[in-house]
Amino acid sequence: ASGLMAGKRGIIMGVANNRSIAWGIAKAIHQHGGEIALTYQGDALKKRVEPLAAELGAYMAGHCDVSDESSVDAVFENLEKHWGKIDFLVHAIGFSDKDELTGRYIDTSPENFAKTMQISVYSFTSVARRAEKLMTGGGSMLTLTYYGAEKVMPNYNVMGIAKAALEASVKYLAVDLGPKNIRVNAISAGPIKTLAASGIGDFRYILKWNEYNAPLRRTVTIEEVGDVGLYMLSDLSRSVTGETHHADSGYHVVGMKAVDAPDI
Ligand code: NAD
Repeated sequence: ASGLMAGKRGIIMGVANNRSIAWGIAKAIHQHGGEIALTYQGDALKKRVEPLAAELGAYMAGHCDVSDESSVDAVFENLEKHWGKIDFLVHAIGFSDKDELTGRYIDTSPENFAKTMQISVYSFTSVARRAEKLMTGGGSMLTLTYYGAEKVMPNYNVMGIAKAALEASVKYLAVDLGPKNIRVNAISAGPIKTLAASGIGDFRYILKWNEYNAPLRRTVTIEEVGDVGLYMLSDLSRSVTGETHHADSGYHVVGMKAVDAPDI
């Protein structure tokens, strides 16, 4: 442990289980001396998150469904009472109806379009606004995005449009909050088999494709993304804001199938 996060406290939103990207980040922050608060979405996930919180000595900041503003307020009121001040925020939350993560993007319904944007995009701005008030000594905010924002990926559909908007919000938030020494960045993670990813059509094929074609010839783990999170949330990245940083074994630079990639 480096002590890189010693004296820093913050909230990590989006742990569903021990395969969540948010959990990979939480572990890295804890290993390097940071103090963590976790939220959970509903009672079913509370049962999974409680033992994980105990493992890291994390504070359970309460139930948070970002589509219910009062639950978001309650969490930040808890945090204010518990700590008063925070140094970092991780937003690892996304949602779209599984039925629309397959087939053609053009068939997206207005209801699911709005819901996907609210939960996967607006929620970052919504929690950033509340976190700003507690980041009285500056801070670092981080969200999770995916390459489907930049290039068309099969079945990612409306989620790709949402991630493009999320990446744009990172830039606008960075400008709003920069004068307060609050940095705002995103990690664009390569595909990882999580609960959320299991909703995406043909996800196994996407994983294999990345493994065979990424420059490093492997997919990424939540621990690897966690270490990039550590960089983003610690003072190592103190000159970095408004950035979308890829943690994807280099996949985003590739223009064509690798010459040695097997057929799948
Ligand atoms: P996950 O299922 O472990 O986490 C998704 C989280 O979103 C869950 O904790 C869930 O409770 C939360 N969530 C969904 N709707 C919510 C709501 N209304 N209110 C509060 N929380 C809500 O999956 P993950 O893959 O770790 O996802 C975390 C983030 O990483 C997402 O933004 C996802 O799009 C992004 N991401 C994932 C991958 C991948 O391949 N797994 C790649 C790049 C980016």
